[in-house]
Amino acid sequence: MSQPPIEKLRIFGHEAPATRRIADDDAPAADVGDNPYWAAEEDPPHPNPELGCIRRGICCRSSPGWFAPGEVEKAAELLQMPPDAFVKKFLVVDAIAVDGAPVHVFAPVKLDRFGKPALPTGRPVDALYRVLRGVCVFFKNEGCSIYAARPLECAKYVCTNAPADNASHEDIARMWRDGAAVAAE
Ligand code: SF4
Repeated sequence: MSQPPIEKLRIFGHEAPATRRIADDDAPAADVGDNPYWAAEEDPPHPNPELGCIRRGICCRSSPGWFAPGEVEKAAELLQMPPDAFVKKFLVVDAIAVDGAPVHVFAPVKLDRFGKPALPTGRPVDALYRVLRGVCVFFKNEGCSIYAARPLECAKYVCTNAPADNASHEDIARMWRDGAAVAAE
């Protein structure tokens, strides 16, 4: 089975280009040291990354996407919860600098290795939390449990895209700063 060109594979916008394990006996040894997520994936055959999202939840297992303005209310409604209760149970307040000034944004909490929120929900998180990987609180049964109301960053993210083609945390934060409404799909 032919392998996709390595240079086309990218995951996690701010990280180095991904390389993936190649299991064919006669294939050159793959450099799996650059990215632990590809190295830990299952054996071939792999889905074709040219088809877009490869549906393995790699992003959901490491760095949840951020909600754009107006989306927290929609996700809360999906779960039939008041928005404030939804925030207190499932979200944290993350932040990133936009044009030199911090902008605060709602994000699904990451879970720790025991399946519990890595930090208290409904509150701001710190810089260390931001860089650590953790499963999204909404990632259940190998899928997104709020898919119909998932964050805009998740909806726009495809791990095989070039980083510049994905929405970034900064893009979402800029929407909050500018008070932009989420465009209707
Ligand atoms: S909200 Fe859904 S799509 Fe986004 S990271 Fe969490 S599980 Fe994945």
